[in-house]
Amino acid sequence: MSDKNNNKLENGQIKFVGCRNCGSISTHPILRNAVGFKSLYLNICWDCGLIFDVRVPTEKELKSNYADYSYNTIKPLSLATRRSYQDVLNRFFKDADKGVVFDFGCGQGDFLVLARQAGFRVFGTEFSVDALNLCHKRGLKVFSNTEPLFDEQKISESSVDLFTAFEVLEHLGEPKAFFELAHTVLKPSGVLYLTSPNFNALSRFIERERSPIFGYPDHLCFYSKKWFIKNSKHFGFEVIDIKSQGLNIGSISRSPEAAIDLSTASRRSSSCIPDSTDWIRNFFASNLILKSFKGYINAGLNLFNVGETLKVTLRRI
Ligand SMILES: [Zn+2]
Repeated sequence: MSDKNNNKLENGQIKFVGCRNCGSISTHPILRNAVGFKSLYLNICWDCGLIFDVRVPTEKELKSNYADYSYNTIKPLSLATRRSYQDVLNRFFKDADKGVVFDFGCGQGDFLVLARQAGFRVFGTEFSVDALNLCHKRGLKVFSNTEPLFDEQKISESSVDLFTAFEVLEHLGEPKAFFELAHTVLKPSGVLYLTSPNFNALSRFIERERSPIFGYPDHLCFYSKKWFIKNSKHFGFEVIDIKSQGLNIGSISRSPEAAIDLSTASRRSSSCIPDSTDWIRNFFASNLILKSFKGYINAGLNLFNVGETLKVTLRRI
């Protein structure tokens, strides 16, 4: 254990002593002294391999941060996001096979609305009270992340076919609790599909601490393909596949100052909210030649595991 692993930061803020996932105290401050990374406070766990921000956000910090998500009204779903949601449903279900879908951290509930329209039974959870209200207005069975799920038979154990979490895992302080919940609600052989920023993304190597994958107190833990391969079995899952795709072209091509703005916009956009890069995704999706070009780019990014987003598919054992 490093001597920097005492439980106070320089400014007196409390920090996480052990690993946020496995609780090991065998952690090390990575990149702490590297030029450009000193503001990140990242540790790596030598036992499970998790990379995490040692700072523990206060309630005030979290409230202030998530107030920026502004869930006052239902925002339109971008064409690109709609297509990616539809692809997820098409991938895991055949027409005659309409099951139960559970979306963790569902935002304003767009994925659940699409799944419901396609004939699935849908459930979800959400942290933001404003987003919860929007989900309830849309008639969705969405519960607060803070309330016990298995009281009053809100949802039964081993009842879900597909458990999803789009760009949520990195926000959670304790990934272990997330995997335990997914394992409990999924049927045996049920599928857990999640997306999360890739710690090994090309943008991280180019933009370093300005990469959109960072941003305390929004993002607290950072994942790689290797981490899921190493830890999935421990949580009771087998890996079906893990892809890394996407390139944050905007932030790489802009000046450092602009990149900060874009990363803020990107972080504030949950999977449910169109962000400033949506026009690029829509443009590529609507042009066949560019779509093929995007396919080659994604294949290359996936080959070297440097795509912006990890797309992880696990099966409950
Ligand atoms: Zn660990």
